[in-house]
Amino acid sequence: MAEEPSVELSGEFQEGDIIFDCPECGKSLAIDPRGIGLMITCPDCESRIQVPFPEEDEAALAEAIEQAPSSMDYAEALAASQQKVRDQMLALEAVSKRRDYLEKLRVENLECLKTIKQEMVVIQSALDRVSTAIQDNQ
Ligand SMILES: [Zn+2]
Repeated sequence: MAEEPSVELSGEFQEGDIIFDCPECGKSLAIDPRGIGLMITCPDCESRIQVPFPEEDEAALAEAIEQAPSSMDYAEALAASQQKVRDQMLALEAVSKRRDYLEKLRVENLECLKTIKQEMVVIQSALDRVSTAIQDNQ
């Protein structure tokens, strides 16, 4: 069983005490902040009552909600990151196209080299024939 914080109800208010009225009899009660949310017995009317959250906490909560990024901000942030993703996709596409182009260029160069090689063979054999003809004439 959890240890219950000592809760003291008193007529004398102390620094930091939660001050609230008993919802049954209306008596002003003061309680240690550790008593927040606890079920207690009103010393005056003996009703079982729950210690309320202090109003300043509610105000702080309301302020926190007010200052929290609105759903509009989230929508903007989401749109921004979606745009970023689109930009990266486009960049990737550009890189991919560039790669395809270079690959095509490489294949074309290979074809060109093959043709040159074939022509070299033709030239070489022609040179050989010329060389043989010159030697035959000597
Ligand atoms: Zn009471």
